[in-house]
Amino acid sequence: MRQALSVASECVPLIKTGGLADVVGALPGAMATQDWELRTLLPGYPTVMRQVPRAKQVWKSSDLFGGSARVVAAKIDGLDLLILDAPHLYDRDGTIYLGTNGQDYSDNPERFAALSWVAAELATKGIGDWQPEVLHLHDWQAALTPWYLRAMGGSAGTLLTIHNVAFHGIAPAARLNTLRLPPDGFTSDGFEFWGQINMLKAGIVAADQISTVSPSYAHELTTPEFGMGLDGVLSGRSHDLSGVLNGIDTGVWNPASDPLISTHFKTARGKAKAKAELEKEFGLPAADGPLCIVVSRLTTQKGLDLLLDALPALVDRGGRLAMLGSGDRQLENAWLRAAEEHPHVAVRIGYDEPLSHRMFAGADSVLVPSRFEPCGLTQLYGLRYGAVPVVALTGGLVDTVIPANAAALSAGVATGLQFHPITVDALAHSLIRLCELFDDTSTWTCLQRNGMKHPVGWDNSARDYADIYDRLCSQ
Ligand code: ADP
Repeated sequence: MRQALSVASECVPLIKTGGLADVVGALPGAMATQDWELRTLLPGYPTVMRQVPRAKQVWKSSDLFGGSARVVAAKIDGLDLLILDAPHLYDRDGTIYLGTNGQDYSDNPERFAALSWVAAELATKGIGDWQPEVLHLHDWQAALTPWYLRAMGGSAGTLLTIHNVAFHGIAPAARLNTLRLPPDGFTSDGFEFWGQINMLKAGIVAADQISTVSPSYAHELTTPEFGMGLDGVLSGRSHDLSGVLNGIDTGVWNPASDPLISTHFKTARGKAKAKAELEKEFGLPAADGPLCIVVSRLTTQKGLDLLLDALPALVDRGGRLAMLGSGDRQLENAWLRAAEEHPHVAVRIGYDEPLSHRMFAGADSVLVPSRFEPCGLTQLYGLRYGAVPVVALTGGLVDTVIPANAAALSAGVATGLQFHPITVDALAHSLIRLCELFDDTSTWTCLQRNGMKHPVGWDNSARDYADIYDRLCSQ
């Protein structure tokens, strides 16, 4: 097997705030099918360190960005992990990115620059006879690696995967030294961005290859509407930019064996009990319309403010909505108010992985009204569990859902509903259409069946990544 190192700030099952963690956790298994052995380098947050009590030290430093640090190796759930134990950077009281005041830690650039530094050093020096040929870097937290690798004389090929271009990793120019970056890189062709250091841009200009998590988002990234100021740089690298669709771990997300749900099913007909349990759990009345769910971060990206305004279209037709999410305080409060106003709407504020599984199992439909969506995972879980997705026509949602238009319905291939433009009216219209389709039992069954058969695993995407890895090795 050939060797690669995947570098990220989160990874299932150890630590997760979003889809990045699911992907990083599933990638090693997916790439093993392509003869690539991935180790995963992660920061040693306290919750991660607690999960690897007997790990073996494989690297150490007396000064890693202001303190001593070591890397320990451990195996968990088939993952071959390298964990950067640096208490001065990662032993904090808040979440992995935010302090207890809800603000980013002021030293986030250094916290993750250190991760990139160690990735470059491990790749350059190796550990025993382990020496990765490829560094697979995820988002801004790993994006300085190619710069450090260059400075250390390392030869591994680098792939930067952009999971969400909205997050740049910005630092004031005065931190060039503490970030161990070369001053001559602080130019518009380098990592300078409106007078500051932009860590994602640093990776975009310096990585050998760049990918993002769906073909549609790869195209969108090069447009001013979606590129978040980096569209020009990304256009300049369009020959090295590809879109590789995220898959989901179909072993973990399997309605026939999921240990987090009480009723297992192979076809959507078996969902009835899970649906009744979900109604009960959320205190929703039984009704004729579809039981919809949302499982999401509550941010404007996810379009859940649009859904608040479109709710009457659903509840007036007997539809119900169970929502699980957390994030923006104003949105959380607005959703709690909506639940008070509408008996057909129930809201849980928080992050709850087991509950999310029960929700996909019991739902008729999952709603994903995102304003932009690099790939999106919840529509994939929905497909797999017979919860028909209603999605905005953007990014990976375009690439993963086959809309129930006349042609797709008559060809018997539709898997969900897409709406465009991304407005309250268009969303409301698609919710009305959802209720109509739900009433038409044979069409509805067909949608569910198609969705449950739709390939949502890693097979194709693992091959695509293997092609990129191979290209890196021959460069
Ligand atoms: P993003 O990474 O932008 O948040 P994705 O759809 O790619 O969006 O991935 C989100 C992941 O986080 C999914 O696995 C989803 O089920 C999970 N998730 C989001 N919010 C919650 C929550 N409140 N409770 C449990 N799981 C959640």
